[in-house]
Amino acid sequence: MTQIFDDPADFADEALDGFVAANRQYVSRVDGGVVRSTASPRGQVAVVVGGGSGHYPAFAGLVGPGLAAASACGNMFASPAAGQVYRVAKAAHNGGGVLLSYGNYAGDVLHFGQAQVRLNAEGIETRTVLVTDDIASAPADQPEKRRGIAGDLTVFKVAGAAAEEGLDLDEVERLAILANARTRSLGVAFDGCTLPGAPEPLFHVPAGLMALGLGIHGEPGISEHPMPTASELAGLLVSRLLADKPENPGTRVVPIINGLGTVKYDELFLLFGKVEKLLTGAGLTVVEPECGELVTSLDMAGLSLTLLWLDDELERLWAAPADTPAFRKGTVARRARREVEAGAAAGQADSEQPTPASAALGRHAVSALAAVRDVVVENVEELGSLDAIAGDGDHGIGMRRGVEAAVDAAQSAAASDAGASVRRILAAAGEAWSEKAGGTSGALWGTAVIAAGAALGNRGSYSGTDAAVAVEAFASAITGLGKAEPGDKTMVDALLPFRDAFTAEIAGGAPVDRALAVAAAAARAAADATAGLRPLKGRARPLAEKSLGHPDPGAVSFGLIAERLGRHIEAQLIQQGARA
Ligand code: ADP
Ligand code: MG
Repeated sequence: MTQIFDDPADFADEALDGFVAANRQYVSRVDGGVVRSTASPRGQVAVVVGGGSGHYPAFAGLVGPGLAAASACGNMFASPAAGQVYRVAKAAHNGGGVLLSYGNYAGDVLHFGQAQVRLNAEGIETRTVLVTDDIASAPADQPEKRRGIAGDLTVFKVAGAAAEEGLDLDEVERLAILANARTRSLGVAFDGCTLPGAPEPLFHVPAGLMALGLGIHGEPGISEHPMPTASELAGLLVSRLLADKPENPGTRVVPIINGLGTVKYDELFLLFGKVEKLLTGAGLTVVEPECGELVTSLDMAGLSLTLLWLDDELERLWAAPADTPAFRKGTVARRARREVEAGAAAGQADSEQPTPASAALGRHAVSALAAVRDVVVENVEELGSLDAIAGDGDHGIGMRRGVEAAVDAAQSAAASDAGASVRRILAAAGEAWSEKAGGTSGALWGTAVIAAGAALGNRGSYSGTDAAVAVEAFASAITGLGKAEPGDKTMVDALLPFRDAFTAEIAGGAPVDRALAVAAAAARAAADATAGLRPLKGRARPLAEKSLGHPDPGAVSFGLIAERLGRHIEAQLIQQGARA
């Protein structure tokens, strides 16, 4: 049980505030997470880690010299929003570029991915290395599907040490990829964990049993076993990990025994003694091991074993000094304090002068967004029910939260004294959308709206071709971030026919409203046709059979929005006398 809180909704935030109060010599609070409170040499690569809260010392506890430069901290077990990651990374950036590193979970991939797009667009060179150490989560030939668990530590540590050595972003990225490729973990759980304020644990492991490979958020494991003895458990973990060695493993390994929450240190040490014997018995040399709590899951009863297979580079970086609230190694010289300015992380005021054409287009964008909001609000329930068939039922409310926030943000951007360019208005709208919507579709819509605005820019005049370029940018943002293919049963199945019809119409000389009407009809038809598909991406995937016969909610909302936009723009043109 998690017992100490006022309002469970504030748990993650208040815990982080208190963590910072207890560790001011290491970290400062910024919007969305924490950054080092100590100065780093100018030009040092900023290794920015993060993920959901509830996993302490991952992730904020690993911020300090020789390890992470900052951590983006989401709600309990939930990814930080893209805007939070972006602001934390901006506050941490020190002139050497940013390496984002985090465990491989769909929500984190979307939000960190969106932040990366924004950072790169602003000229802050940003790369990503996902941690995929959990051998229970996918077979060895599909490492990209594996989740990240306690192996976070080895990857972050190697990347942080490489940055501390003054290596450049290419090198830090290469070494982090190498560390991940040579890290393997396997976990077991004896019982579930309870979110603050929740009446029930998120999941249970039946009494007397142990779940092998259960994820740190209760994702299903590989198998259940009768509760083993310590020796049997050590044997099981070691043998499974030795059966999943990386290429050219060598003979030097770092074993890490990680407690998930309620397993006592004495038990972890007892197990470690047995693991070490088995490893040396297998001809391996144990190097600078760790045994303790490194990535937890609230009060989950369980533990994991990680092996980092060393080579010379990795051994040097693993052994390098580090000094963070929860992880210390060797000696790090005292650092000067770094003042994080209160406003530093908040988006800087945009001093750009909008052109009259761009400001006018921006005002149209605000009213178009309001039309999008109306159609979403009218269909909230229907979209929710569609999502409830095989998803989690939140598509309607998520879209509504996102688009309402987008309209507010767009209106305030447009209301600034000098007006604002369409680029700036859509940037504000997209950021608000992704931050407030939560969920997959929010991250995708938010990024796409920002990308469309960036494509429109702040030009002296606009034509139909610019609209086609914006639609293309919108579509590429979604496919680039979500990586869904046509036929996966996502909004992409409505989006691509829309894009293709729109571009063809514009190329054929059609005015924007006609092109939109044709494209929207194509999107509606394609959305309906998703009823015949099985979902291959997103939350609905595990319930594919249930979804058969029903259209994809994201495709349906896209079709409805496209249609409403077409009608809205036609009405506007009629009003302006441009149409009969
Ligand atoms: P969540 O799935 O996080 O609950 P929503 O319910 O708001 O988010 O949105 C679900 C919709 O998101 C799906 O119907 C699908 O159209 C879309 N979606 C999910 N994953 C992807 C992806 N990788 N690429 C494009 N669209 C996706
Ligand atoms: Mg949903």
